[in-house]
Amino acid sequence: MQCEANGSIDLNVLDKLDVKFFDYLYTKDGEKKVVPQKEIDEVKEWLELSKTSQKLTNPMVELFKKLKSIKDDFGATPEDINIDKDDLRLMAIKHKNIDEHNVSIGGRVMISHKIVQEANARVEKYLKVREEIAPTGYELWDKILKNRAKIQKALGMSDKDWDSYGGQIKYAITSAEELAKIIDVPKKLIDDIQRVSHVFRMRISPYYASLIMPNVVNDPILLQSVPTGDMVDNKGIELEPVASDHSPARLIDQFYPRVLTIKATNMCAMFCTHCLRIAHISAKDWVSSNNSYEEALNYIRKDTNIRDVLITGGDALALSNKKIKYLLDELDKIDHIETKRLGSRIPIMTPQRINQEFLDICEESNEKKPLRFVTQINSVQEMTPVSKESFKKLNRVTSAILNQAVFLRGINDNKYKMWRLCEELQNSYIRPYYLFNCSFRNPEFAHLRVPVEIGRDIVESMYGNISGDSIPRYLATAGGKIPLHRDNVVKKEGDDLILKKPWSNEEVRYPDASMEEYNKPFSFEKYKD
Ligand SMILES: *Cc1c(COP(=O)(O)O)cnc(C)c1O
Ligand code: SF4
Repeated sequence: MQCEANGSIDLNVLDKLDVKFFDYLYTKDGEKKVVPQKEIDEVKEWLELSKTSQKLTNPMVELFKKLKSIKDDFGATPEDINIDKDDLRLMAIKHKNIDEHNVSIGGRVMISHKIVQEANARVEKYLKVREEIAPTGYELWDKILKNRAKIQKALGMSDKDWDSYGGQIKYAITSAEELAKIIDVPKKLIDDIQRVSHVFRMRISPYYASLIMPNVVNDPILLQSVPTGDMVDNKGIELEPVASDHSPARLIDQFYPRVLTIKATNMCAMFCTHCLRIAHISAKDWVSSNNSYEEALNYIRKDTNIRDVLITGGDALALSNKKIKYLLDELDKIDHIETKRLGSRIPIMTPQRINQEFLDICEESNEKKPLRFVTQINSVQEMTPVSKESFKKLNRVTSAILNQAVFLRGINDNKYKMWRLCEELQNSYIRPYYLFNCSFRNPEFAHLRVPVEIGRDIVESMYGNISGDSIPRYLATAGGKIPLHRDNVVKKEGDDLILKKPWSNEEVRYPDASMEEYNKPFSFEKYKD
């Protein structure tokens, strides 16, 4: 039918939707009110335009919309306002005739417009409140520049220091005293940072610190970078260190047959308070020796099932360009390796790191075999003109940039914050890939956890409201990445969930965040006087 010429369809017959529409317009029911002359005049004008217009559908659409609103608002039929029914029938046929897809006026005005109206209603509030509840780094840029000036002065950093990765690392804020120089911190917090320092090393790049908005109690940047007393006070489940049960070879983590990770360093430009690898980063910085790289590569060379290798850390970009090039080159040389990924948060913590030499290395490797870049952005406040520029460049030299966000309390556990994050990621050349439920493994950040159900409601709220390819997959990490669709959550036992691994049907117990804890004041709220 679609391929046939219009002539073969009998356009003189109104379709079912038109018939229904006419029935509606001509039904005499309810109370009739006087139709203002102005409304009637408008109908007549649109009718005249419809008659004379040979190429446009719009006059007919406006004509019928007007008739519908007169029926809706005043209970008046076209007959009541002296409009000829045959004229209207002809206009309906003409509309269908002009429209490429033979859409009838009944379908367009009665159904399609209603669908769009209802759709718009679903995002109305989001569009109104998004700037207020989830301001981006672009919107806050003037304030960020002011913060930058203050920080540079306090730390004695030159512009050159600021604009270089080396400078950002050299001047990183690692103590409560330094922190107090650049932002107002309550005395109680300073004491707590000292109390926490034996479980968590603080390191905040001056650039990332400039994204902290003064006077916002639980600022999303502050929450991710500055430790609070919660980190030692949380009661949690003590478990074996993360790697012992899934590291078949030196530096390697493996759960899956076709993809594995090389943890090439434990260094990061900054330490995140919610880091899953908190146990690794919290000791001392290390870069692996050549021996360990060789052993890891040998493991990969021998296992021909492996096709995808993820270089992570810590942060892959904490490695020198030379080391990254070496690893990519060696992987590209292995026949059964078909694709690679680099995992790094550095483009948002110290975007200065994305230099031309690094981009060239990516480009060269990506030419050989696809290279994806995996990052972690949790809040739109982390997205600035500077980070966007880095991602734009990275996008030209990689096959995809993927984001793995973590649901974090106060940071993104709200549907509009998450919608905005996913849309902004796409605007920055990044594809939202995963959305993790923050793990139970580390009691240090239990206060940042969001119950599985809350996260699921947020993820489900995205369907039908934002672009499909900006909706991430929702997962828990528990011996592999387990989807948190309703089907995979077998049951709930108190605060524990029983999850099912799709690849083996194995059931695992997953302690959920407690709803009671979730609703209590947390982190910086506790320092308010
Ligand atoms: C996350 C992860 C991967 C990659 O998983 P994808 O679902 O392919 O993104 C591979 N190996 C380990 C050990 C991981 O933790
Ligand atoms: S960048 Fe990644 S590995 Fe490093 S501290 Fe943050 S979450 Fe942990």
